[in-house]
Amino acid sequence: MSVETLEFQSEARQLLQLMIHSIYSNKDIFLRELVSNASDALDKLRLESYRDKDLQADTDDLHIEIAIDTEARTLTVRDNGIGMSRDDVVGLIGTIAKSGTAEFLRKIKESQDAAGSQDLIGQFGVGFYSSFMVADKVTLVSRRAGTDEGVRWESEGEGTYTIAQVEDAPQGTAVTLHLKPADDEDHLFDYTSPWKVREIVKRYSDFITWPVRMVKQNPLEPDAEDTAEKAPELETVNSRKALWARPSSEVSEDEYHEFYKHISHDWNNPLETVRMQAEGTFEYQALLFVPAQAPPDLFMRDSKRGVQLYVKRVFIMDDCEALMPNYLRFVKGVVDAQDLSLNVSREILQQDRQIRMIRRRLEKKVLATVKTMMTEDADKYTTFWREFGRAVKEGLLDDPENRESILEISSFASTEDAEKPTSLRDYVSRMKDGQEHIYYITGESRTTIENSPHLEAFRAKGYEVLILTDPVDEMWVDSVPGFDGKPLQSVAKGEVELDPASEEQQSEYTDLLSWMTTTLEDTVKEVRLSSRLTTSPSCIVGDTNDLTPTLEKMYRAMGQ
Ligand code: ADP
Ligand code: MG
Repeated sequence: MSVETLEFQSEARQLLQLMIHSIYSNKDIFLRELVSNASDALDKLRLESYRDKDLQADTDDLHIEIAIDTEARTLTVRDNGIGMSRDDVVGLIGTIAKSGTAEFLRKIKESQDAAGSQDLIGQFGVGFYSSFMVADKVTLVSRRAGTDEGVRWESEGEGTYTIAQVEDAPQGTAVTLHLKPADDEDHLFDYTSPWKVREIVKRYSDFITWPVRMVKQNPLEPDAEDTAEKAPELETVNSRKALWARPSSEVSEDEYHEFYKHISHDWNNPLETVRMQAEGTFEYQALLFVPAQAPPDLFMRDSKRGVQLYVKRVFIMDDCEALMPNYLRFVKGVVDAQDLSLNVSREILQQDRQIRMIRRRLEKKVLATVKTMMTEDADKYTTFWREFGRAVKEGLLDDPENRESILEISSFASTEDAEKPTSLRDYVSRMKDGQEHIYYITGESRTTIENSPHLEAFRAKGYEVLILTDPVDEMWVDSVPGFDGKPLQSVAKGEVELDPASEEQQSEYTDLLSWMTTTLEDTVKEVRLSSRLTTSPSCIVGDTNDLTPTLEKMYRAMGQ
């Protein structure tokens, strides 16, 4: 049998180093990661066997088993799911395909304090590699369902791993952790204790659909050795209830949080939990979460939608883009629909009327939840807007149907209060007598904007101006006519005259103005008298339909 030694891809190597010298205090979660991978593998096998009737796979008793060997100090998590081929193992375990990894590693390097790194690790979630927090060697044996060739992968996490072909590997995957020596001070981390392991499974993986089995413990002799004669009796440790199908009064907040961590691969609690249950002609249940932090890839091109689709408790797909609009791509969760075919494809979903209806309801529900947050929990809302506001504002462009609701939950920096963003509703309530417009100015940063001569007259009049500095602001302001019947007006564009110049003033300056217009012909369209300035002698304004300076810069950067 030939054994090959291969190198981890460099990002994988760095991530492993982080795990080996782990600074993450909650090491228990390695088990959640392994059980979650096993559960995903079982989901995938079940789905594949529905789709491919010829698949030669055993789907009779899909389950997860956790075995402990106290003598050898090993812990094994085994599943009889989809399994991996040799190439799968090299591609999936030896490399990290997750987007945002490089960015994550860079931030880790920059963050000096341990607490900051903890946050980052939690946010990123490191999956399989978290095994190396507790193990100094990991062995994985796998066989892809429907094939005969097994593969054995082994590594101490230090730069290389070995890979070899194996005979008669059972279907699915077994991951064996060779646990680090027990630390006297850290006896809490004794993962050879069945009680401890059972407790972790209950805590983190209770809702998993598949049975997680362990050797039954005799309460009178807790750690009795199994006698060789009779096979040890197994028992299911988790309750296996689909959380979204249970009445919310029966589910604790902790259970929701653990479920969120399971599906999102986030190690932190969500900011908000959203539940929906629809009965009648088209029945579905949804359990959605707003994370507490934006993922590192929120603004990357291939950033995924976070909602999973189930049909009658059967997992169908991750990242179901048909269920959530792009601007709410950070929302995670599960939708379980009762009347869809298990064979639905992404393409069919996009066309499906009922799916579109679900999506519309989910979107409205999320917006309504944020609106409630705004009035009932200002701190929570502040976090929400800080993390996701920039994405949400994309909806002002993409989704005219919900534009008013999106404006309702948006906040903007303003001249009113340098520290605190304002909602449009609050802006409107502060509008001065005679003020008809909601004024705004766009630019690169608050500092450049505050020194802008465009603001002078508005300041003098006591008119509040919204300060819009996100690139996306440049895009939506032109397509959003106004809010609550008040038109939006840029202070830097067109003829915004607060007190128009009188006839005499106009005629007095006619000659000067036309001389200036001719002289500056190559640079400006027109020179006109303005009341928008109080201390500066002049300023440059764009025409109503012109690009703003920032947009101009953006287009130029894109080579247009
Ligand atoms: P994630 O689960 O977030 O994708 P992991 O590091 O936990 O990241 O796992 C990486 C990949 O390895 C998984 O996406 C999956 O394709 C594969 N994998 C891990 N464990 C198993 C398993 N028990 N059975 C089949 N595939 C697995
Ligand atoms: Mg995983």
